[in-house]
Amino acid sequence: ESKAAGRGRVTVFDEEMLSDKRYRRLVERELRAAVYLGELELHYQPIVGPDGSTEAFEGLIRWRHPVRGLIAPAEFIAIAERSTLIDMLGEWVFKRACADIGQFAGRRISINVSGEQLKRDEIVTMCDRVLKDTGRSASQFIIEITETVATAATPEILRRLEALRGLGFHIALDDFGTGHCGFNYLKTLPVDIIKIDRSYIRALAHDQVAQIFVSALAQIARIQEVTIVAEGVETAEEFALAKAAGCNRFQGYFFGRPVPRGKLALLDGRSAEPLALSA
Ligand code: C2E
Ligand code: MG
Ligand code: MG
Ligand code: MG
Repeated sequence: ESKAAGRGRVTVFDEEMLSDKRYRRLVERELRAAVYLGELELHYQPIVGPDGSTEAFEGLIRWRHPVRGLIAPAEFIAIAERSTLIDMLGEWVFKRACADIGQFAGRRISINVSGEQLKRDEIVTMCDRVLKDTGRSASQFIIEITETVATAATPEILRRLEALRGLGFHIALDDFGTGHCGFNYLKTLPVDIIKIDRSYIRALAHDQVAQIFVSALAQIARIQEVTIVAEGVETAEEFALAKAAGCNRFQGYFFGRPVPRGKLALLDGRSAEPLALSA
């Protein structure tokens, strides 16, 4: 996993370190301080329509550690999730997104919410409070929860999702296909968007079962007026295949990597032009 983390990234743990209680405590302590020291960053990756124009951005957290460099979320979210530290990170992310959204020319920002955050009412009160404090509208944001969280959702979690939707957030099911969400169960979930996991997008070129799965999902989504996002699109071929299968939104390195907001070259809100991304 650490090798896949990408260029310029430094690994902070391996499996063994993660299971080490003292190591986790150390990261927890550093992470808590990181919030106050301003070491967290929210990077943005475009989500585009069938014509390639930017429709929204996903906010993805990074930790710019003074010694270790840029750290990917896979290396610290799981540690934060072991305590209410995840609530603190979640609040930081939403406040950051609310502060940044003015620069996004009317595009929505999609944020990731941990299943752990959904176990407490704080997620709803925090979102409501931050919206009021910043004067933003929930309809400008999408909340992504993973399929695994949705399928294991308790009545309380479903109630919180409904409450967030009631505030005006759109809800997206992330990494769809990696969990056990039956087609039938989809009907009962309060979701507006389904994001198909990149493993299916990768398989489209050579695996007929993946093609049928994505097409079937896209057809069901159309009936239920749910948007289907293809995740992890890396090539023109994957873009074409995902489009042919019926996906209506696309995200991946082919369109742009996640970048700090300073690197997004944005046009003003009156322009109909797609947002240009500077390298
Ligand atoms: P995710 O929400 O499914 O986000 C998509 C991940 O795929 C991101 O990794 C993104 O950089 C990566 N990606 C995008 N396009 C491509 C592509 O074309 N190819 C490949 N191979 N990868 C692509 P990232 O930023 O490392 O985030 C990993 C996961 O960490 C996220 O998966 C999400 O579950 C979690 N995460 C990120 N930010 C937050 C956050 O603010 N809060 C919480 N709770 N979790 C977060
Ligand atoms: Mg996501
Ligand atoms: Mg995903
Ligand atoms: Mg993921």
